[in-house]
Amino acid sequence: MAISPTVSAMHRRYPYKYPQKIDYNTNVRNDENISMIHTPLSSYLTYLPPEMRGLPWQAHPLDGKLLLFERDSGLNVLLEGDETAHLQRVAPRTLLIAVTNICNLTCHFCYRNLKSPSAWTFDSLLEFCRAASDWGVLEVAFGGGEPTLFKNFERFIHELHDSSGLCVNFTTNGMLLTDEFLRGIAGKYGNIRVSLYDTNHWETTIPRLVANNARFGVNWLITPDELPRIEAKFLKLMGLGVRDFLLLSYKGSDATLHFTRAQHDEFAAFVNRMYAALNGIAQIKLDACWGDTLPGVPRLFETSDCGAGDDFLSITSDKRIKPCSFHHWTIPFETLGDVRAYWEKQRTNRQAAATGGCARLPFRALTDHGGLSHEVIHLATV
Ligand code: SF4
Repeated sequence: MAISPTVSAMHRRYPYKYPQKIDYNTNVRNDENISMIHTPLSSYLTYLPPEMRGLPWQAHPLDGKLLLFERDSGLNVLLEGDETAHLQRVAPRTLLIAVTNICNLTCHFCYRNLKSPSAWTFDSLLEFCRAASDWGVLEVAFGGGEPTLFKNFERFIHELHDSSGLCVNFTTNGMLLTDEFLRGIAGKYGNIRVSLYDTNHWETTIPRLVANNARFGVNWLITPDELPRIEAKFLKLMGLGVRDFLLLSYKGSDATLHFTRAQHDEFAAFVNRMYAALNGIAQIKLDACWGDTLPGVPRLFETSDCGAGDDFLSITSDKRIKPCSFHHWTIPFETLGDVRAYWEKQRTNRQAAATGGCARLPFRALTDHGGLSHEVIHLATV
């Protein structure tokens, strides 16, 4: 089977098929990861549409596939075929890093100790992220606490962008996204994720992001009480200019925040309806923890696992590694080398998070009526 590239971007998806064979004698560009796999990047570029070949791609080998990523456009190309069958992953794609615990809001549901100091300083975080880039990580996603409260955050974004190959993203409550800050970081970041809370005035923040031509999307936690108003709120957000929706599932021990089977079906019907009506003008993303609970929902890639601990790692503000933010495993580390050693040893371990809503647990550890299967959760901790 010859390579079949799949290209994805902010609002588009291009399936291309190029039947020609790779010319293994071409030798134009090489980087550390590509030299490890003994095939020059230029050979793989022949599978791209001509107008895309000149972009500054970063190669990210996966197991049996090759991912090409271009941080300025946000384009991803996944190449898969006989020609990529020998490849092996060398690094996670993304590190999710909690840079601070402090926050300028006091949301009732927040579980963080806002007074706990972060172990990260400007210099230690910069050094860690640069080392991650050298390892082969493509993206960092900063969170917290509120990452815009990290000291000199604007300068930090600049320095990291200019001194590494990383695509810099962050999740924020948006309260400090001034025009000046947005103009200051223009061209230096990948995506701003704005969380939608009742208390963070997103109706004001979103028009400011749109006016500044910012690359952003919204993170929206979908709980049962959101369902009756979900379509109206979705259309309101569209009207404000949102074109990128990440719909998050709840993970945790509060049974009232989990869906029943019927509510999963209702939510899936909503997603399918919006997807058809939007006809590609906006992007609807679902977090991996929904698993296979949403019948008929179209997917860009068919994957059977969320990728926690392999495709991405969560790094806490007190310098611990977690497979994902909801995980009960935490492993202390000092250097990027420690993180790398952990990843190489544990990346194929698909350990579930011991919490209701984890897609690695049978039926996400939920009953048909939205209750929690405590035995399942208990077993996951063993
Ligand atoms: S391990 Fe479970 S909770 Fe964590 S990202 Fe994967 S599915 Fe979600």
